[in-house]
Amino acid sequence: MYGTDKIKTIYFESGLKNSGIIDSIRANKNSSSEMIEIAHVSDLELLENKDFINKEVLVVSHYNGKFLSSCPGSDGMVCCRYFVINTGPGCIYDCHYCFLQSFMNTPWMHLYGNFEDILREVDEKISHTKFHTRIGTGEYSDSLALEPLTGMSLRLVEHFSRKKNATLELKTKSNQVDSLLHVSHNGNTVISWSLNPQKLIDEIEEGTASLSERIEAAKKAVEAGYRVSFHFDPMIHYPGWESDYHGVIDFLAENINPARISWISLGTFRYSPGLKEVIQKRFFDDNLSRAEMLNGPDGKLRYLKRVRIEMYRSMKKKIREYHPDLFSYICMDTKNVWEDLEGHAPGSAKNLDEKFEKRRIQMMDAE
Ligand code: SF4
Repeated sequence: MYGTDKIKTIYFESGLKNSGIIDSIRANKNSSSEMIEIAHVSDLELLENKDFINKEVLVVSHYNGKFLSSCPGSDGMVCCRYFVINTGPGCIYDCHYCFLQSFMNTPWMHLYGNFEDILREVDEKISHTKFHTRIGTGEYSDSLALEPLTGMSLRLVEHFSRKKNATLELKTKSNQVDSLLHVSHNGNTVISWSLNPQKLIDEIEEGTASLSERIEAAKKAVEAGYRVSFHFDPMIHYPGWESDYHGVIDFLAENINPARISWISLGTFRYSPGLKEVIQKRFFDDNLSRAEMLNGPDGKLRYLKRVRIEMYRSMKKKIREYHPDLFSYICMDTKNVWEDLEGHAPGSAKNLDEKFEKRRIQMMDAE
């Protein structure tokens, strides 16, 4: 698994030199990586080159924009009223399907150092929202990949432990939970793992933890009282996919008490136009982008509907065998697919969100 020792250079803006994030990076960085103070991130313009991706450089800067947004669910898809914190785009891992490859306009990994502003914006959002809010950091980066360096997720867990009406979700493909195990989280954080069969982890999730390492970390999180969840997203269609994915669920069943699982999401591989070229350029023998796919109402390419339904149906059946009460849902797919699978589609994001809330209350009552 790639660790933070992969980072060779850390640029940081002078205005952040006394910030908690920079203190943490200074204390935890590998002795061979250098820290370079810059006046402003724009000083690095000369290094900008969209044609390469540099995972050895981390840039810590002040961000003036909004950190929080509703999940970028796309047109015509069923969504679930989830909010995303952007702590800075970029990831040390290198999943071949990652949308960041075409989304980012700088080659390096980015981290926003004005962390207090993130907390302020989260508090403002929560205080103005009547429903229980789910907020996660794993959309524009892996929530725990840089944790040994930044300590950012630990601070978020502590912050959310004092919130009554919000749940923090940390989403990862790492096994780096140790720093979170002895903190008082008050049941307000769910730690989630994205899962795929080991064959795919080896082939297309470069630098991430193995399946066993992820499940071992999830076991530790459960022992520390966290709720956990799992994302089979993106599921990839290939000869033998079904027995491989069922094997992952069997492995989960052997190791994780279903009563501690908040949710399991299912989503098949999809991508926006533009990503295909990047994938094929970076991974020339890639098969992902050569599969038969169709444009959806949101402009993204997806497997044919019958393939998606076959995959969802098979996984849902297998999940029910694991435990009939497990709450699983389909992420970013069409109403048609929901209707074929469930007989109905949630009328709104609010309707789907209510299922998350029901599961949360059920788990809290059982504690
Ligand atoms: S772990 Fe997530 S953010 Fe990181 S490369 Fe993979 S898909 Fe992208």
